[in-house]
Amino acid sequence: MILTVTLNPSMDSIYFTDTFTLGEMNRCSNPVKAVGGKGINAGRTAAILGSDVTTLGVLAGINGELIQSALEHEPFNTDFLAISGESRNAVTVMDQEKNQTEIVELGPEITEKTAQQIIEKVIEFSSQQKKRPIIALCGSANTKNERLYQDYLQKLQAQLGSEIKILTDISGTQLQYVLQGTTKPFFIKPNIHEFAELLGIPIRSKNDVVEHLNHPLLQGIPFILVSCGGDGAVAKYNEQIFDVIIPPIDIINPTGSGDATVGGIAFAIDQGLSIEETLRYGMACGMSNALEQAVGYVSIESVESLKNNILLKEIK
Ligand code: ATP
Repeated sequence: MILTVTLNPSMDSIYFTDTFTLGEMNRCSNPVKAVGGKGINAGRTAAILGSDVTTLGVLAGINGELIQSALEHEPFNTDFLAISGESRNAVTVMDQEKNQTEIVELGPEITEKTAQQIIEKVIEFSSQQKKRPIIALCGSANTKNERLYQDYLQKLQAQLGSEIKILTDISGTQLQYVLQGTTKPFFIKPNIHEFAELLGIPIRSKNDVVEHLNHPLLQGIPFILVSCGGDGAVAKYNEQIFDVIIPPIDIINPTGSGDATVGGIAFAIDQGLSIEETLRYGMACGMSNALEQAVGYVSIESVESLKNNILLKEIK
């Protein structure tokens, strides 16, 4: 069982255009519309692969109503809290050169009261299950509380026990605070740029990532995956370090590949698979997402076939 939390769901529009010129009128004939947000995308991926998934979070305004009705057709259960404001729009433009331009609204504010209501829901839901779910805290939150996710980690471990597996896919200051706290997540997935920002060090290659995996800020996190887009990833699992090598593919839209990766990892952990299989699922899901127009969507057939072409090189 997997529970994902999305504090900033979105209505996504993806525009595929022949050309995209700043300061000009750019027309698009076939926009793709979908519901998004990191936890929703990760939850969808894990559910497509076969996990029992519930997604939880907040929705606001007219966009919130649209998202809620679209969620009824998704392969997972939902439990969203209605708050004031307006759920955000996120626009991606993919031009023929495969340049990806994104415009993402801030989204409704998560007040202290909302933050408290959400964590109570997560704890209540998790306590009711026969087996503790894997909990994935995903994506940015528009909040004044920069320690919101650190607070969540502390409360979750205090209420559900230290064995609870919490995956986080967050970045920036929120991730800084999470890593500085005494309560650690089981898994983090910064991309290479977020990793550089986190450590305040220029990181240009996978070798640079490997060199900094023992940084003091990363101590106590059992599973670190630094995703590197088309270059695959670098992973650290306890004392093992892997160069995760993926074959080149002809991508269509890589937006949301990181979310799909987290969904694949959550699925594999939920199934109790080995670290090697877990990494293969994570990568194959990211790649499968990049082969689709839709954001945060994978096909089970492509995941199963891509998985066989991922090379894991253990770095001693
Ligand atoms: P997002 O924020 O859009 O969800 P991200 O920046 O968090 O993505 P990436 O590092 O871009 O995550 O991608 C995650 C994984 O998806 C990669 O490790 C890889 O397996 C796959 N992937 C992403 N982009 C490509 C690409 N261009 N070609 C092949 N695979 C890709």
